[in-house]
Amino acid sequence: MAHILKCTKCNKYTMQETHCGNPAITTKPMRYSPWKNAPYRKEARREELKEKKLL
Ligand SMILES: [Zn+2]
Repeated sequence: MAHILKCTKCNKYTMQETHCGNPAITTKPMRYSPWKNAPYRKEARREELKEKKLL
């Protein structure tokens, strides 16, 4: 998987680790977390069970 890097000098995106003689840094790191939706899903499941009990 290729990482998109950004030149620290001219702020241009590049796939190279260096650009115009300056190091290129990674832009925003991927902040996707598989656990982020876990509490919601747990809650939804609980609601579902609650509804079944009521019925
Ligand atoms: Zn540059």
